[in-house]
Amino acid sequence: MPAAIVIHHQVETLRTMADTGALRRRESENENGKAHPLHLSMTSDYATSTGCPEPALRRIADAGFTHVHWCHQWNTDFLYDHAEICQIARWFKDFGLTLTDLHASLGVEKCWVSPREYEREAGVALVANRIAMTARLGGDVIIMHTGNEPRAETDRARFWTQLGRSLDALEPVARDHGVRIAIENTNDFPIIRRLLADHGPDYLGLCYDCGHGNMLPDGLGELEELKDRLIAVHLHDNDGQGDQHLPPFTATVDWEGLAKIMARSAYRKPVSMESSMHNSGITDEAAFLKQCHDAGTRLANLVEKAAVQEGHSIS
Ligand SMILES: [Zn+2]
Repeated sequence: MPAAIVIHHQVETLRTMADTGALRRRESENENGKAHPLHLSMTSDYATSTGCPEPALRRIADAGFTHVHWCHQWNTDFLYDHAEICQIARWFKDFGLTLTDLHASLGVEKCWVSPREYEREAGVALVANRIAMTARLGGDVIIMHTGNEPRAETDRARFWTQLGRSLDALEPVARDHGVRIAIENTNDFPIIRRLLADHGPDYLGLCYDCGHGNMLPDGLGELEELKDRLIAVHLHDNDGQGDQHLPPFTATVDWEGLAKIMARSAYRKPVSMESSMHNSGITDEAAFLKQCHDAGTRLANLVEKAAVQEGHSIS
């Protein structure tokens, strides 16, 4: 066959395999038909969110994780240069890691919801930088905070105007790169409900942070209502009083209840942990990552079990 036809044939074969689920099965098996290790995702900033990320990525891979939630520089004005993005892509390849999603930026002076117009425009440029980075690393979701709705009426009107302008400006950028925006719950479900009602699932979804949800009276009830829009998760534990980012199963999050909703949700990516060493009492990075990997395995099994009970199949 001429080369062009061979390539066309291969693409069509892959499409057919993807349609039937065969591609997914093939990806989860090696040449001997044995299953690869469970897909689990760890946040890149479990130890620190600034500086060279190479040591953390290497340790995440060494601990058995297959995926990474990119969380470095999520709350700074840091713009990733082409050279930095290319180097991160090389580390992902060298360590056998896949990007789950990327925590994009609520910057300090570049802020997509700033009432100052030039700061908002700079904030849009910062988020666009992360959309391009996500696409370059093979990902399809960025996660954003909106901040709280101001109390004063004029400030509140300005907040919605600025947020609307930023979402309108970012929509074509996101579509061009095949990336969707997940709005993360902090304590702001009313904002999320309004945004998800105003924008379709091909542009906006929900990132459920179960630690933040655990500090609300009924976080899981909020998730239940929006589970069809769930496209990202931040999984970590706390005592309901503070945002401690502990490993799962170490405090008071209702993991069984969460697993049941995840199993019925639109979310189809790995269990993705956003736990941090800072409040864990563990000082050894490998020991911390092992605890998170064990907890992630336990949670993935809970989700799988719930999916089987519900009659859903999950990838
Ligand atoms: Zn989070």
